[in-house]
Amino acid sequence: MAEVLRPIGFDPAPANEEFMARCHAAVDIVQRDLDATGYGRYQMRACFGGGWPSSVHAALPDGSYWGGSEGMSREMEGSWLLVCAADSVSSMLKEIPEIEWPVCAVHGGHPGHIWHGEDPADLIKKVAWWRCTNTGHPLAPVGQLTAESARTL
Ligand SMILES: [Zn+2]
Repeated sequence: MAEVLRPIGFDPAPANEEFMARCHAAVDIVQRDLDATGYGRYQMRACFGGGWPSSVHAALPDGSYWGGSEGMSREMEGSWLLVCAADSVSSMLKEIPEIEWPVCAVHGGHPGHIWHGEDPADLIKKVAWWRCTNTGHPLAPVGQLTAESARTL
């Protein structure tokens, strides 16, 4: 009977697991950049946000996350999922500890309010890149941030 009553669009558990595995993998790549720039104290993991369609956000170990960004959703794949994971991590740091990250080693962050800068992550030639929030130039591919490209803590 449960099969008959299952609403259209219901996602069976295996699809959720596969989706969450992709989100965890994407957040793990962003974590490398946090570690490389001295922000490794912020241990990010993927967690389900509320709402429908459900989205996944980067969260701190205590479960706090910022739901104001787009987050990661099921239809995203590959590099675009990684861009959204990067954006989710950056947005969360802005909102919860009020840190701008990553910050360009050359130009610094946006001179005004931290929320007014360029989008920190974007898809460039099908690759997820960090961008300078001050001028918008590419900093480094997501997962390859270094102390030369971004300011360290
Ligand atoms: Zn710059």
